[in-house]
Amino acid sequence: MGKKNVLILVLASMIIASCGMQRQGKPDASEQYVVMLSMDGFRWDYADRVETPWLDYIAGNGVSTEYVKPAFPTKTFPNHYTMATGLYPDNHGIVDNNFTCPEVGTYRLRDRDAVENSDFYYGEPIWVTAEKQDVTAASFFWVGSEAPVQGVQPTYWKRYDGRISYSDRIDTVIDWLQLPLEERPRLITFYFNEPDSKGHYVGPDSPEIDELVMELDSLLGLFINDLKQLPHYNKINLIVTSDHGMTEVTMENYVNIDSYTPRSWYERTHGGNPILHVTPKEGMKDSILAILQTVENISVWEKHEVPERLNYGTSERIEDIVILADSTWSVWWGEPSTRFNTGGAHGWDNAKKDMHTIFYAMGPAFKENYVHTPFELVDLYPMITHIMGLEPAEVDGKLERVKGMFH
Ligand code: AMP
Ligand code: ZN
Ligand code: ZN
Repeated sequence: MGKKNVLILVLASMIIASCGMQRQGKPDASEQYVVMLSMDGFRWDYADRVETPWLDYIAGNGVSTEYVKPAFPTKTFPNHYTMATGLYPDNHGIVDNNFTCPEVGTYRLRDRDAVENSDFYYGEPIWVTAEKQDVTAASFFWVGSEAPVQGVQPTYWKRYDGRISYSDRIDTVIDWLQLPLEERPRLITFYFNEPDSKGHYVGPDSPEIDELVMELDSLLGLFINDLKQLPHYNKINLIVTSDHGMTEVTMENYVNIDSYTPRSWYERTHGGNPILHVTPKEGMKDSILAILQTVENISVWEKHEVPERLNYGTSERIEDIVILADSTWSVWWGEPSTRFNTGGAHGWDNAKKDMHTIFYAMGPAFKENYVHTPFELVDLYPMITHIMGLEPAEVDGKLERVKGMFH
């Protein structure tokens, strides 16, 4: 073969190869977007109970999994910050929805000053990783996004206000994605507080949850249709996930700590059914342990004795003793009430099936129609840095656990 013919052959094969790449349409990691939606308290099996054509659409065109395992305690604030940082609560500092930090003070999810106080947040949220590497980030509500962490906040962020409608949130996310390239966020996190709120009220097995799940799925459909209109739709990865599941509670299966130990024995108490962490008054620890460790249907540990698989107990923000109700049991102070002892709750051991949650994702990074083995919420951070070509911080999450879902 002559030199000229070889050249033609080489050129031809290069053209064919590049056409192939275009057909696949896989943009470079540095061009890909990640849009992550959390629908609070979306239990792993809710979508199996009713028609959810849009979650099915994501599964068909992307990746799904039977369930994702949240971090312990399976509560909203610890887990949203785990999703953001790739760290277990022991390491990211938001050890519960409420806690006391000896140096900083008391954190409560409804205390604006606390939620916006940077000193409570350890680790490196994904939007900080992005912004530090000159990638613009946006957040329409996410735990930790309302305070600068390492001095950095998402370029666009919103102070939490549950009254803002989901469709307004969707519209704003779409507006952000239509900004001129130099202002446009390439990482967006956003949040719906359902089906958690209703799940607490009516319990996870109520037909009202079925209806709500179908409504949320329709909203998701509107969002996907909007995304499809964008000229850069083929560069957008959409992740739909959640922070934990939900289980039914009853008036009967209830342990009232006041029936065993007087409140005056405690210096400080934190947490919420089914997990409490308490610090006894001086000299009372042994008595509290001796009594509560004989009570059935709860586990009571000194914090350093909490089973290792829960990754919970090294933080100074966890009180001295951890009390966790067994599966299907509740624990709290005082007489049971219909307000707290009917309906649903979450917070149990993250091995409990009902605490597991969902993951659906589609876009250029993800395989199509692929069911991945279960993984952990802590793995979302390395997943996102991998997709976007960002240098990750050191985290507890493992890319190896999720990399089978990528092309
Ligand atoms: P819980 O079910 O007690 O673990 O907490 C869920 C509640 O957390 C939701 O109903 C929201 O109202 C609330 N929430 C979620 N994100 C935020 C935030 N960024 N700031 C304040 N409250 C929030
Ligand atoms: Zn939640
Ligand atoms: Zn909740």
